[in-house]
Amino acid sequence: MRLGILGGGQLGRMIALAAHPLGITSTVLDPGADPCAAAVAGHVRGEFDDLRALYDLAKASDVVTYEFENVPVESARWLAERVPVFPPPKALEMSQDRLVEKTFFADLGIPTPPFAPIDTREQFDAAIGSIGLPAVLKTRRFGYDGKGQAVLRTPADAEAAWATLGGRPLILEGFVPFDREVSILAVRSRTGETAFYPLSENEHREGMLYRSLAPASGTGEELTERACEFAQRVLAELDYVGVLAIEWFQDGPRLLANEMAPRVHNSGHWTTEGAVTSQFENHVRAVCGLPLGSAAAVGHSALFNLIGYQPDFAEVLAIPNAHLHWYGKEPKPRRKVGHVTLTAGDPEERTRLTDEFVRKVNPRVQ
Ligand code: AMP
Repeated sequence: MRLGILGGGQLGRMIALAAHPLGITSTVLDPGADPCAAAVAGHVRGEFDDLRALYDLAKASDVVTYEFENVPVESARWLAERVPVFPPPKALEMSQDRLVEKTFFADLGIPTPPFAPIDTREQFDAAIGSIGLPAVLKTRRFGYDGKGQAVLRTPADAEAAWATLGGRPLILEGFVPFDREVSILAVRSRTGETAFYPLSENEHREGMLYRSLAPASGTGEELTERACEFAQRVLAELDYVGVLAIEWFQDGPRLLANEMAPRVHNSGHWTTEGAVTSQFENHVRAVCGLPLGSAAAVGHSALFNLIGYQPDFAEVLAIPNAHLHWYGKEPKPRRKVGHVTLTAGDPEERTRLTDEFVRKVNPRVQ
């Protein structure tokens, strides 16, 4: 079996690494000269809308998937006429635009923060009035890691937010006074079999994922069941195949959907060591038409991103149960260049290892 992957970053690299022991070889399509996935997969170089490159990828693949959601939907559709493409291109469409995505959640009865579309200054002022402050103004498309966003705390903030973001299609969201952020990773096979990973508890710094704990601490079964049930609605509606991530704001017993990603997700990187079957392997199994593996956690894991700097590897690996994943990318400010997963038998041991890791390695957004 030959797997094609649109995108050659670290997610593509970890998908290809998980495919290899299953006897599946991978080829990535990526515009870069030396994308990090190319170290472990074939590489077709080209833009995501380059028909020649898409044709070459289709020729090299029995099935095609993607590792990021800003692949042009038309390219995914063009490929789908030639080779099976999973997750379905419709899932890309639903997740590329924050307004479409939130409307999709709301139509499925999945709670979201209050939101309103903003194209004009008049709409902006009206939405501030109806949603109230604080609120967050976001670009509808191409925002990630906190980019393309402005938080409004007082009416005076509106001017600066509009000066920075105005003129593009925008969305205004009510600011959720959340207790914490959590994500659910779900996977659905070609035959409709599903599996759900335990909730990850995610801490962001400067808009980027800094740390995930999984299973999330102090989570009752009810909360997890609700997240699974909401994710199940999305999987069923889209006739989804592959791993799907949904990020939530938890406010007491309430879960409000922030966004979804039709792909493997950073908050699930702990599954490589911390779950029976990693998100990467289950994604490969799903899109390649194989049975899914168990998504149960093995113990308690903590995941730290390495952002913008290279730590001393020996120092990282000297910490008990630390697993290093270095992506082979050159460190640049705010660039994710690796991650470390700490595995523990219980939440107390996880806290101990986490404290030691923070003290010795000083994980940060650099
Ligand atoms: P996003 O790119 O939408 O995931 O936003 C990045 C981060 O900004 C989130 O992880 C939250 O920490 C924060 N944020 C975004 N939207 C909201 C909101 N409506 N209420 C509170 N915090 C938010």
